Amino acid sequence: MLNIDLHCHSSVSDGVLSPREVVERAISNGVDVLALTDHDDVAGLAEARAAAEPAELSFIPGVEISVSWGGQTVHIVGLRIDPAHPEFAAGLQEIRAGRTERAHRMADELAAVGIEGAFEGASSHAANKQIIGRTHFARWLVEQGHAPDLRTTFRRFLTRGNPGYVEHQWTSLENAVGWIRASGGMAVVAHPGRYAFNARELHLLLDAFRALGGEGIEVVTGSHHPSEYGKFADLARAFGLLASRGADFHAPGEGVDLGRLPPLPHYCQPVWKAWPEVILKQTAPTLAATT
Ligand code: AMP
Ligand code: MN
Ligand code: MN
Ligand code: MN
Repeated sequence: MLNIDLHCHSSVSDGVLSPREVVERAISNGVDVLALTDHDDVAGLAEARAAAEPAELSFIPGVEISVSWGGQTVHIVGLRIDPAHPEFAAGLQEIRAGRTERAHRMADELAAVGIEGAFEGASSHAANKQIIGRTHFARWLVEQGHAPDLRTTFRRFLTRGNPGYVEHQWTSLENAVGWIRASGGMAVVAHPGRYAFNARELHLLLDAFRALGGEGIEVVTGSHHPSEYGKFADLARAFGLLASRGADFHAPGEGVDLGRLPPLPHYCQPVWKAWPEVILKQTAPTLAATT
């Protein structure tokens, strides 16, 4: 069975490895098909593709778009997108501008509790100054001794009700799915188990997502406990959505590593079932054996 990992981050967003290093790590972890899905930016895709080219790895251009829906932030992954599509590229550019403005407000909130210099601090952890996010603030807060690790930092800071958190209006679900589809890609709801929705709200989200032309949902992700895989596999089936698998890898030693999650439950219809790059790989050994 192919090892397919369709969600990870490089230093273009809040990961710590460069796009090339992400691809090299995926290869050494035995990944056969990899999507790089940086938050709200596609600037790493060319480097990642170039790194994958001479290797056996099939590379899928991706993105993870920040959306506001139902009073929460929801992440929509786009797979097999065309990063050069004008409407798609312009949409992401707008989100990045909002992100920078938000980072200044977050720093103001931290300053209000006596933590000065957070914008510059977070920025020093961001290789791409257009994508400064909560993870960069968290890494800086740990470095400054305000918390022992990232998990604790997100419990004490940067989350609703805690210092450094600000409300932010991301783009709409309609825009995110629309841009992904316009660029030829497939839209996938990221880590559905992470949202503070009740069952009814989650169903409303999936209905709205499907009505807009969304096609997939993550079932096996680093953000789900293994005991949740069945629940989201059932949800995928009930809503006629294809299932995805991705570690949501950010850094060595943080969370799940590339390609190290269990496979999708056997009854799932995977997002890659009709992808030529996967079908070719699946049939390649047979072809080789018969020639
Ligand atoms: P942002 O898009 O700037 O709001 O940042 C969201 C990112 O913060 C997510 O993609 C994760 O990488 C990270 N994050 C959010 N919550 C946590 C948490 N509890 N522990 C560790 N990382 C988190
Ligand atoms: Mn992240
Ligand atoms: Mn996410
Ligand atoms: Mn992610």
